[in-house]
Amino acid sequence: PMGVCPPARMALLRDNFTGLLNPWARPDVLTCTSWGAPIIWDSTFDPAVAQQNALQQNFTIGLTVFAVGRYLEKYLARFLETAEQHFMVGQRVVYYVFTERPYAVPRVALAPGRRLRVERVAREPRWQDVSMQRMRTLHEALGGLLGREAHFVLCMDVDQHFRSAFGPEVLAESVAQLHAWHYHWPRWLLPYERDARSTAALALGEGDFYYHAAVFGGSVAALRGLTAHCARSLRRDRERGLEARWHDESHLNKFFWLHKPAKVLSPEFCWSPEIGRRAEIRQPRLLWAPKEYALLRD
Ligand code: UDP
Ligand code: MN
Repeated sequence: PMGVCPPARMALLRDNFTGLLNPWARPDVLTCTSWGAPIIWDSTFDPAVAQQNALQQNFTIGLTVFAVGRYLEKYLARFLETAEQHFMVGQRVVYYVFTERPYAVPRVALAPGRRLRVERVAREPRWQDVSMQRMRTLHEALGGLLGREAHFVLCMDVDQHFRSAFGPEVLAESVAQLHAWHYHWPRWLLPYERDARSTAALALGEGDFYYHAAVFGGSVAALRGLTAHCARSLRRDRERGLEARWHDESHLNKFFWLHKPAKVLSPEFCWSPEIGRRAEIRQPRLLWAPKEYALLRD
């Protein structure tokens, strides 16, 4: 999808978190959605303005990550170490690590104003269940301490690491991530759940973009709603012996079709190096690790 926002939508691109977005800086890509939400790309925002705005509002930003089974040894240290270098530098940050082995969480030196909390979760036997169970666990955490201490929360996969600045320009009431492999595909080809019996189903002609479950976020209230919706839909499907094509990601896509995200992150914010170079990807901020499922999944 190419082209810029029609002028009528410009006013909507003034936002609390980013200052004034300049969609004209990137005529090569789509910089706003049909419902007027910004799609942020490198050079459409000023990170220094976002930084100032966030500091003035004294935000605490949560970052949740699950590291269950072999994902802990394989990915967690690098995820956290690179987050210290690039994630919300200069802001108040609280990491929430969910694992079945709290004692095995690596000790990472944290800058002032940043803390790490570890929450114990049960280890689901199937990797699909580990992934899906995150929605229920996050819902509970958002109703507890995490929800009380954070204003905004980003929820991420652990099998990735930060490469460059991932700052408060991403913040909004609700935030969705364009999937690096699918952002330029025609809508009918997107890998939504198509089985109409599933609560995650989207019919042909439905769906705006294909969003990646490796990064989503928003205010505590919005994420309470999102996680409640997805956990409930996952449970209803399971009760009827159904499992959506891409598990929790299918349900997340259904949620964002029904409740449009307030901000969309370009694939720069979560990029797969296996795709190779793309002219429009200027500064990848998070990079996927290679998929080594044979080592990780039973
Ligand atoms: N995860 C985990 N242990 C598992 C399976 C999943 O900790 O056995 C967590 C981890 O944070 C991982 C996320 O769930 O990044 C989603 O799973 P995965 O990354 O394997 O899914 P994919 O990105 O391949 O769809
Ligand atoms: Mn992943």
